[in-house]
Amino acid sequence: MGVSLKPLPAPAAREDGDLSPATICHQIFDSISVHANGDIVCWGVDSQGQRVYGNVFTDRIVDVYNGPAYREIRDWMLRSRADTWCPAVERHCPLRVVPASVDQDAHNCRIKILKLEPVTYCNLRCPVCPVETAFKQIPALKETRAQKLLALETMLDVVAHQVVPETNIFGFGGEKYHEGVAVLLAPAWFVSIGSGMVSLLLCRAKTVAFTVRNLLIATALVAAILGLVVYPK
Ligand code: SF4
Repeated sequence: MGVSLKPLPAPAAREDGDLSPATICHQIFDSISVHANGDIVCWGVDSQGQRVYGNVFTDRIVDVYNGPAYREIRDWMLRSRADTWCPAVERHCPLRVVPASVDQDAHNCRIKILKLEPVTYCNLRCPVCPVETAFKQIPALKETRAQKLLALETMLDVVAHQVVPETNIFGFGGEKYHEGVAVLLAPAWFVSIGSGMVSLLLCRAKTVAFTVRNLLIATALVAAILGLVVYPK
């Protein structure tokens, strides 16, 4: 794996007598995420790619997941006092809230959820979305995160190499890409062939837009069917 990662800080020391379980996130222990540029990160919470563990164009998911950098950050969480701060993104992460079990270890983990981000361009202008606030604004992110598209064949290749119980298709961008129900569902449909289960998670605005559009399409279909059944020629 050709990435060189910033060293992690020393594990956060515990107070004397603190026997509380460490806090972990499920994501680094049983999930893995691929950005639309192919970068492998812990999860969508690292939207800017602050800690990139590899890239699907050069690395296999399974090697990254079982590799030293992934094991290192799991171990860091287990050895640190309970907290939500995470060195991957150098801030508090809302996902690091799970009490570690007594037998939790950094090595024997299994990928349960693979997240694929199909696209990072969008024709909506949501003022709180990283597409608007970061990918278009920060020069380094314009290069790495703006207007990227993970081709369907790349997603299929990833899924073919690493069968997981659930594949999650998620993106901050995508309204443009997702125009039309068939185009939206195509990645899920094809990826589902190589994966046990697929879920589509879109940001709230796109989910609403998609839902409204679906409602209109469903209404038109029902009207057309009723028209044929109730008023046949
Ligand atoms: S706690 Fe850290 S490793 Fe886990 S999802 Fe959050 S940023 Fe990623």
